Amino acid sequence: MRPEDKETLGLYLHVPFCVRKCPYCDFYSRKPGQGDEKRYVAALMKHLEQTAPRAAGYEVDTVYFGGGTPTLLPREDLAALLACVRRHYRLTRSAEISVECNPVTGSDNLFRGLFAAGFNRVSVGLQSADDAELGALGRPHDFRAFLETMRGLAAAGFTNVNVDVMFGIPGQTQESFGRTLDAVVSLAPAHVSAYGLRIEPDTPFAARDDLCLPDDDATADLQALCAARLTAAGYLHYEVSNYAKSGRACRHNLRYWKGLPYLGFGPGAHSYFGGERYAFSRDTAAYIAAVEKGAEPPLSERETVTGKNAQDEYVMLRMRLFEGVDEADFKTRFGVSFEDCYGPFDRLISAGYLCRAGGRTRFTERGMYVSNAVLSEWLDFGKGE
Ligand code: SF4
Repeated sequence: MRPEDKETLGLYLHVPFCVRKCPYCDFYSRKPGQGDEKRYVAALMKHLEQTAPRAAGYEVDTVYFGGGTPTLLPREDLAALLACVRRHYRLTRSAEISVECNPVTGSDNLFRGLFAAGFNRVSVGLQSADDAELGALGRPHDFRAFLETMRGLAAAGFTNVNVDVMFGIPGQTQESFGRTLDAVVSLAPAHVSAYGLRIEPDTPFAARDDLCLPDDDATADLQALCAARLTAAGYLHYEVSNYAKSGRACRHNLRYWKGLPYLGFGPGAHSYFGGERYAFSRDTAAYIAAVEKGAEPPLSERETVTGKNAQDEYVMLRMRLFEGVDEADFKTRFGVSFEDCYGPFDRLISAGYLCRAGGRTRFTERGMYVSNAVLSEWLDFGKGE
């Protein structure tokens, strides 16, 4: 392989610490204890170095610091982790380097430091512009802290900023969600992610029976409102839950949806590499102990994706994207026609949920709201081998 033919790769670095645990969240994170962060950063750097030989044939064009709350770490540690990536991996000059930020952890000093270190994209978790809704979610920030964060990011030089919003929050109405969307649009971030609140098992929210949550119709109305406001403001609805100004789609997340390789680091981090999916156990102490000994951290899952599972996974991920499935590419990869496997599509097309044009099949805007139901009819993970 010539150097210019190198394949591209994404890196995901998980920071498993949060100021406190939000009652709906099932991401792997916890409050840090004394000295936890230092030891964890050292382990992450060692693991990056240990893993680098596997990535020797790749150019890294996206790096994503997620969590948890990466901005809970001091700016020096985040800069040192990025320097470690540069030392051991072949980072492209135009690489997208993202960091997630919770508004209570930001400061002008931190943002200036991140920008100087080479971070070029920040994802800010707003969720709602309504302080009562933020309280209902148990979020540690208020809307004012978010505005301060956005001001600080702009002052530091960041132009590629994502804002996360949420619909289906207890007590949220069409009007209050509309006000959140208006507040976001007025700040013109490059990217907006809009996810519905999901009640995950084993979270404090799952144990509550007093949460007033929207039904499926009300949820679809909130999604429709979101799409209408954001597309009217010039955002492209490029993925079921994601909107971007022209050229600002998240390149790292596109790797996930397009089945491109990425390596994850940290407890709970997932990887897709060499046709294999695996995840490290959600146990920070076990992760640190293994890496300090020079061993691979314990895994919670490992699977080689082949056959009907690979085909279903391709469809599930590609259909999340507005561009949908390229039927010729599907045929080349799997040797069968897309419609023979998942069709006939006439009923979904005449109902206005599916669109077939230019060799592609994709969900319409309306179809995106029912995409989970359609895909669960199409796909039969684990039954087709
Ligand atoms: S800040 Fe984010 S990652 Fe941390 S507990 Fe809340 S929702 Fe979860």
